[in-house]
Amino acid sequence: MSAPQPAPIRNVLIVGGGSAGWMTAAALANSLGNACEITLVESEAIGTVGVGEATIPPIRYFNQRLGIDEATFVAETSGSYKLGIQFVDWARIGQSYFHPFGQHGAEFDQVPFYHYWMREHLEGRVEAPIDDFSMGWAMAKAGKFAHPLPDRRQIQSTFDYAYHFDAGLYAQYLRRYAEARGVRRLEGRVVDTALDPESGAIASIKLDDGRELAAEFFVDCSGFRGLLIEDALQAGYENWQHWLPCDRAVAAPSAGETTIDPYTRSTAKSAGWQWRIPLQHRIGNGYVHCSEFIGEDEATATLVGSLNSQPLSDPRVLRFVTGRRKKFWDKNCVAIGLSAGFMEPLESTSLHLIQYGILRLLALFPDSEMSPLLAEEYNRQTAVEYERIRDFLILHYKATERDDAELWRYCSAMAIPDSLQYKIDHFRDYGLLVADERELFNNPSWIAVYLGQNIVPKRAPAITQMRPDVPVADRFAAIANAMRGAVAEMPAHGDFLARHCPSRHG
Ligand code: FAD
Repeated sequence: MSAPQPAPIRNVLIVGGGSAGWMTAAALANSLGNACEITLVESEAIGTVGVGEATIPPIRYFNQRLGIDEATFVAETSGSYKLGIQFVDWARIGQSYFHPFGQHGAEFDQVPFYHYWMREHLEGRVEAPIDDFSMGWAMAKAGKFAHPLPDRRQIQSTFDYAYHFDAGLYAQYLRRYAEARGVRRLEGRVVDTALDPESGAIASIKLDDGRELAAEFFVDCSGFRGLLIEDALQAGYENWQHWLPCDRAVAAPSAGETTIDPYTRSTAKSAGWQWRIPLQHRIGNGYVHCSEFIGEDEATATLVGSLNSQPLSDPRVLRFVTGRRKKFWDKNCVAIGLSAGFMEPLESTSLHLIQYGILRLLALFPDSEMSPLLAEEYNRQTAVEYERIRDFLILHYKATERDDAELWRYCSAMAIPDSLQYKIDHFRDYGLLVADERELFNNPSWIAVYLGQNIVPKRAPAITQMRPDVPVADRFAAIANAMRGAVAEMPAHGDFLARHCPSRHG
C-alpha cells in the first residue's frame, strides 16, 4: 500500500509588493486558484525600487499564461515595443552595434547564415557588418514596428520582440488582477520574524502594528535586503562585484519625445553605462556606475547633462551589490526578485529571473512535508540560470578595447569565470558558439556581442570551406532586399502604438 499523501499547503505569505511580489501573487492566484490562501504584505512607507522598464521576449509568455491580452498590457503600462538593444561606445568610443532579439539573416542552407557571413567577412568579400542582416535592427533604425509573421519562409519571421513599460503601472495592474482572484493585501511593515524552534523554518512574521501572521510557506519579495531569506534565515550572498563592478545607478525619467524608438540604448560611459528606454509617456534614463571610479554627484550631473528632454523628477540613486543568494530557497521560504540576487540591468534580465523563479516554484511546489529535495533542485536550476546570464553580462565588460578610463582598464584585464573563457576561446579560434542547455541568450545574442565588441574568429567554421558553390553573394543581396521591402511596408512604431494600444496614462 502506498504511503498517505502529505496534506497540500493551505496558505502562502508573500512579503513585498514590488514587481516580484505582484508577479508572484498573480501567478500563484492564477495557478493555485482557491486551493490555497495567498496573502501579500507590503509597506507603502518603504516603497519599491520603481525601476525595471526593459524586458526580453519571454515576458510575453508570462502575460499569456495569466491570460493578459497584449494590447491591454501595453496600454495599461504605457509601454512600447523593444526589438533589442543598441550598444554605443562599448568596444571603442565611436563604435556601436545592435543586439537584436531574433536571428541575423535568414537560413538558406543547413549551414547557419552567420557562418557564411563570417567566411565572407574574413575573406574580405562582405563589408556590411552582421547588424545589416538583422531584421530587428533594420526596423529599429527606421523606427518601425509590426508583429513578426509565423511563416518561416518570410523575412518578417526572423525577428522577435519584448517590451519597455512602466514597472510601477505593471505592479498596479497585476495587483488588480491578483486581488480579483482572491489575493489578500495587507499594508504594514514587517518588523520581526519568528522561526520554528525545531525545524528552523519561518513560523510567522510580525508587523509594526503588532499583528502576527503565520503561514506554511513564505515568498520573500522584499527587495535587496532579503528580509526573510537573509535577515531571518541567513542564506548567504555570493558577491560578483569583481566581475560585475558597477554598484550604483542614478535614474531620472525625462519627457517623452516625438518619436518612440523601438529599442533600448546602452551607452558606455567612463565609469559605467547609461540606459535610455523610451515609453509612451516618458523616457527612462539611468547611469549605472561603479562608485570606486565616480562619485554620485558627478554621475548625476553626467546623466542630467546628457538628457534630450526635460527631467520629470529629481534623480534618484540606487545602490546594489551584484551577485546572488547562496540559497534561493531555504526551508519553507523562497526568494524571488531582488531578494534573490541582482546582476545589474545591462541585458534586462531581472524581471525574467522573477518570471522563471515563479515558474520553477510552481513546477516544484511543495506540500506540507516540505521535502528538502525540492529546495535543492530549485537552487540547482536557479544557480545555473544565474551563472549563464552572469557570463553573458561579463562578456560586455571584458571585451572592450577602451583604455580611456579606470573602469575599462580594470575590466579588460580582469580574470573571468572559466565557463566564459571556454566560450570565448572556442569562438575566437574557429567561430563556434558553445551553448549550454540552460542558455537564456542563444547564438544570435552571443554573436552580436562578440562581433560588436571586436572578438572575431581566426577562421570561419570548416564546413563553409566545403561549400564553395553556394551563391552566397546572391543570397545575401536577396536577404537585404527582402528586409528593405518588408521595413518599407511597416508602420512607424509611434503610429502602431497609437492605433493598437495607446497609453491609458496620458
Ligand atoms: P522592490 O521593488 O524593492 O520591492 C520590495 C517590496 O518589499 C516593496 O513593496 C517594499 O515595500 C516591500 N518591503 C521591503 N521591506 C519591507 C518590510 N520591512 N515590510 C513590509 N514590506 C517591505 N529589471 C528588468 O527586468 N529590466 C530593467 O530594465 C531593470 N532595470 C533596473 C535598473 C536598476 C537601477 C535596478 C536597481 C533594477 C533594475 N531592474 C530591472 C530590476 C527590477 O527593478 C527588479 O527586479 C524588480 O523591480 C523587482 O523588484 P522587487 O519587487 O524584488 O523589489
